[in-house]
Amino acid sequence: MAEQTDHPIDLVQDALDGRLGGSQRAALDAHLATCDRCRRELAALRWTKTQLAAVATAEDAPQELFAQLREALDGADRRLPETAGPEPRRRVTRSSVAYWLGAAAAIMIIAVVWNIIRSALTAPAQAAEDFRAVLSNSTSLEVSTTEPAALEARLQAAGLPFAARVFDFGMMKYSLVGGGVHRFQGRSSALFAYRGADGRAVICQMYEGHASELPAPGERRRQNEIDFLVYREGELTVVFWQEGDVLCVLVADGDSESAIQLAFAKAVKV
Ligand SMILES: [Zn+2]
Repeated sequence: MAEQTDHPIDLVQDALDGRLGGSQRAALDAHLATCDRCRRELAALRWTKTQLAAVATAEDAPQELFAQLREALDGADRRLPETAGPEPRRRVTRSSVAYWLGAAAAIMIIAVVWNIIRSALTAPAQAAEDFRAVLSNSTSLEVSTTEPAALEARLQAAGLPFAARVFDFGMMKYSLVGGGVHRFQGRSSALFAYRGADGRAVICQMYEGHASELPAPGERRRQNEIDFLVYREGELTVVFWQEGDVLCVLVADGDSESAIQLAFAKAVKV
């Protein structure tokens, strides 16, 4: 058989969009049976659609972004002119395939960026990011209070899947600023922020998790039969410890040893 030059790419596109009648479908199937190029085209377009559907329905996906992307694609679809002769139809087909390939590129970029943000941040890195976000006011605190008991009552009312215990660092010259329910590693966390008289800050979070999920620490300490995992994130010290089914994390600026001592002071053996 001679190499085929007439590829019904428009039919491939229509088949994928479910717009193909029985006789056209039969013609396309007959062509696909003999043409590698169109089979590859169909597979590529189908992959794009599947990716869009999978990424868009995944948990925590930026739904608004995907809704906008879908709307833009539907709009592009509607704007395609009615087809007349074979020549215009081919041009339309090319632009239609081009927009699907453009969509594929957009989906990949969104998915990659979203995955980097969502899962490539390790727990210590995210704890450090949260510290910086709260200090720069880009994450505002749900509750402003200097009373640990008041914040604890509010957190208990929020229906967290664990009992949050708001630390009192008054003895260490840190006063509570506030806190609230936060998202940490895809879970609900209780977050508490503190300020020291010297302007230093401490942020603690509690969330359901296990120390086995954490990356290898820079340092391990053991105090009162509790294991502490210590990480350095730039200028910050991040300390994790386990309390039953809950992981506690404390982030502080300033010297590392002070941060570790704060954790030692508040950790409870469960
Ligand atoms: Zn073909």
